[in-house]
Amino acid sequence: MAASSASIVIVGSGHAGYTLAREFRKLDTETPIHLVTRDDGCAYYKPNLSKALAMDKDADGLVQQPPDQAAAGVGAQLHAHATVTAIDADAHRIELDNGVALDYGKLVLATGATPIRLSALGPDAISVNTIDDYRRFRAALPEKARVLIAGAGLIGCEFANDLAAAGYQVDVVDLCTWPLPRLLPEAQGQALQAGLEALGVRFHLGAGVKQVADGVAELEDGTTVAFDVLLSAIGLAPNTTLAKAAGLNCGRGISVDAAFQTSASDIYALGDCVDVPADAGAQPMPYILPIAHAARALAKTLAGEHTEAPLPAMPVIVKTPACPTLVCPPLDNTGHWQVAGEAPDLEAVFTSEDGRETGFALTGAATKKRGEFAGRMPPVHHVD
Ligand SMILES: Cc1cc2nc3c(=O)[nH]c(=O)nc-3n(C[C@H](O)[C@H](O)[C@H](O)COP(=O)(O)OP(=O)(O)OC[C@H]3O[C@@H](n4cnc5c(N)ncnc54)[C@H](O)[C@@H]3O)c2cc1C
Repeated sequence: MAASSASIVIVGSGHAGYTLAREFRKLDTETPIHLVTRDDGCAYYKPNLSKALAMDKDADGLVQQPPDQAAAGVGAQLHAHATVTAIDADAHRIELDNGVALDYGKLVLATGATPIRLSALGPDAISVNTIDDYRRFRAALPEKARVLIAGAGLIGCEFANDLAAAGYQVDVVDLCTWPLPRLLPEAQGQALQAGLEALGVRFHLGAGVKQVADGVAELEDGTTVAFDVLLSAIGLAPNTTLAKAAGLNCGRGISVDAAFQTSASDIYALGDCVDVPADAGAQPMPYILPIAHAARALAKTLAGEHTEAPLPAMPVIVKTPACPTLVCPPLDNTGHWQVAGEAPDLEAVFTSEDGRETGFALTGAATKKRGEFAGRMPPVHHVD
């Protein structure tokens, strides 16, 4: 079936793409939806990738719905293994690498992000941002292997916990001096580090990887770490190539307004690929809850009711049972943390320069206070 000028075309079958299609179908059962994806289009819950060992699942076990079932469930026509190569915003048409062109009434870019590659890590470093990546990672992972993780951020620490708890030898290396430096104050980062170290994880902080050869990483401070598998978790960059080529405004990600509209009419974006409107005081998007919140609002807009939804502060659970951790990412970095409690049971509130409390972080037993702290954050702009 070819798309028509009335169709909604969604590029991307990740959490953003499927959640939007599901929300839209609650409001409109008639308008054709086309879902284009360069992967196979199966539905899976990405956060499970970094706790799959604890769940005793491999990549296939993490698939929640096969492609056809997932697409049928949201009433969409699936174009799998098809990469969108160009957008003609004036003609309201996209081109796919299989020669197909689809016309759209409204286009939504839910194209996600791509792991950042660091040449010092060499060509064999594996990044895990998709279920196919995870399949490759598990295939390359000998039992009880020594795994070196580059990156002590959220994803690096979650994999460290999952692997160490399952009996793998885990080393973590990062330039930062405590884990999750952008999300946690030092005291809580150290509490998280101590929890992971008690599980057997070895941290090498304050020095990056200089080079890698024959299963040995040489760090900038001269330390060497031997490994069987190198997992790169140094960050993601929003996918903007397609949008930029079409002339859409982009910052770090695709720029959108408070209704997730891009600079081109009838083109919207959500998920890991976007830059949220900082002037609207919105929180960063690249987490599950903000995407769900944005998808509900965008579904309404696509159904004809223009809906703005500045993203409120929403907590993210860091999946490190070795030290339970919950963060509500601060609005920006210009402010300060105030920490109370005794490690590992610490509560921290981030105050922005204008004096508003815009984020918080809880570790250990303090994570039970989630409701209390969430209530202190700026008012939630409900979409209902
Ligand atoms: C290991 C891991 C653990 C995480 N844990 C948590 C957590 O605990 N809590 C939390 O809130 N968040 C977590 N996150 C973040 C969260 O999972 C992501 O924010 C979310 O899944 C992003 O969804 P998305 O649909 O925007 O992107 P993606 O899932 O990356 O989907 C992008 C889609 O776009 C398609 N695509 C891209 N370019 C093209 C093109 N040109 N043509 C066709 N198709 C294209 C891709 O094929 C894919 O289908 C985690 C992330 C990772 C990697």
